[in-house]
Amino acid sequence: MQQLHIKIANQRRDFLHKLSFRLSKTYKFIFVENLIIQNMMKNRHLAKAIHDVGWGAFCNKLEYKCKNNGGKLIRVKPHYTSQDCSNCGERVKKALSVRTHVCKSCGTILDRDHNAAINIEKGGLVLLNLSSIA
Ligand SMILES: [Zn+2]
Repeated sequence: MQQLHIKIANQRRDFLHKLSFRLSKTYKFIFVENLIIQNMMKNRHLAKAIHDVGWGAFCNKLEYKCKNNGGKLIRVKPHYTSQDCSNCGERVKKALSVRTHVCKSCGTILDRDHNAAINIEKGGLVLLNLSSIA
C-alpha cells in the first residue's frame, strides 16, 4: 500500500511538472483564482478536493516556471467569480452543486467554470491594467 501511494504521488508530481511547464511555455500571462486555502480546508468536502489536486503547490510551481520563461502568473481574488455574470455583471447566486450559469438579465448560459474563468481573466487584466492581451 505504501508503495502504491509513493507511485501515485510520483506520477502526480510528474504530471504537474509537465503541465506547468507546458502552460508556462504557451502563455505569457496566466490568471489563477487566489483561493483562500485555509478557509476552504475548514469545509470537509472542499478540503479533500483541494488536497487531492494540491492547488497551492501547483500554483507555486507554475509561478516559478512562468518567471523562468518571461511570463507572469497573476493571482486574482476569488470573490464572486462563479456568481457574477461574465457578460453583464449581474450577480447570479447559485449553490456549489449548480454547474450551469444562467443569467436572467442578459440571457447568457455558460458552464459554471467557464463563466468563472472569464471573470478571473477580466480580474487579471484589471490588475495588469490591460483591456485585452489578444
Ligand atoms: Zn448576464
